[in-house]
Amino acid sequence: MNSGPLRRMGVIERFAGILPVSDKTPVITLLEGSTPLIEAVNIKKSLGVSFDIYLKYEGMNPTGSFKDRGMTVAVSKAAEKGSRAVICASTGNTSASASAYAVRGGMKSIVVIPEGAIALGKLSQALIHGASVVAVKGNFDRCLEIVKDICENYEVEMVNSINPFRIEGQKTAAYEVFQDLGRMPDYQFMPVGNAGNITAYWKGYREISESGGCTPPRMMGFQASGAAPIVEGRVFDNPETVATAIRIGNPASWKKAEEARDESGGVIESVTDSEILSAWRELACLEGVFAEPASAASLAGLKKSLSAGDIPEGFDGEAVLVLTGHGLKDPGRAVESVDPPGVVEADIEEVARAAGL
Ligand SMILES: *Cc1c(COP(=O)(O)O)cnc(C)c1O
Repeated sequence: MNSGPLRRMGVIERFAGILPVSDKTPVITLLEGSTPLIEAVNIKKSLGVSFDIYLKYEGMNPTGSFKDRGMTVAVSKAAEKGSRAVICASTGNTSASASAYAVRGGMKSIVVIPEGAIALGKLSQALIHGASVVAVKGNFDRCLEIVKDICENYEVEMVNSINPFRIEGQKTAAYEVFQDLGRMPDYQFMPVGNAGNITAYWKGYREISESGGCTPPRMMGFQASGAAPIVEGRVFDNPETVATAIRIGNPASWKKAEEARDESGGVIESVTDSEILSAWRELACLEGVFAEPASAASLAGLKKSLSAGDIPEGFDGEAVLVLTGHGLKDPGRAVESVDPPGVVEADIEEVARAAGL
């Protein structure tokens, strides 16, 4: 047994040596990062594969998504230079994270969201943290353009993933995977929206590989088929998918995502909404892991790669699936997708019968 308290560290403290911070940087943290890497034994069995599958469960970050890793660095650097306000365009999770970290840093936060297109859990987070929430009659891509214009004209710090400090913070997840596995995985499957996260993981893996001489994983990125600009090589003017976190028609880090794909020998492909939703249910029903729909693009992508023959027969290494956000962000979708509970009289026999005992 471990004697003494186990004190949790945030990513700036845990990874200071590889981040652009100094003694002068105020550390604004909610003790994010150090998320579980869960071995998915039941999914392995159900797929009938010989390689090991691990789930990097980023929904366990303080505001429920991986955005917190980048936000702690972006908001700390904004505080270092004396900024009083941060702003972001968001499909939901960035706004939840930015507003929480702004509170910690004593700053104002402004979040610009597409009207009616973000999950209720995420909206509730921004509102309860006291952000100025502005809903725009337009999609995420339009929100991002507006935020860029505002930053050129007003004294506010942009904390979208085009902020390089976001990418630096998010790359720490690659270091955690490497440390927890004790080696590089062979493949990493993940959803792609604005493509900041695939850019960040690739940066992290490349740094580890350059310092240790080991081969980084193939980056396997997946967009939703109704929002697949990188796959189809064209901007989507009206991106559509149930996976709202990746409903993006013109990714900010488009070129960097292609570099990650090409340098790692990976792919960027698309999966349909129905493939995403069945993978989402399998994660919940086979492994007990409740992620948000966008996160399940990673498992849907693994299944697609298997059927496309992108993974060699008999491969027995390791694949990591990044689960980017928590299922509780969007409980409405979960409740809609299953039968409602049966109602019976308050009677022991009726309850037992209804429960199938
Ligand atoms: C932001 C987000 C994504 C997409 O990440 P990008 O960096 O925009 O590619 C995927 N899933 C969830 C849950 C997110 O919050």
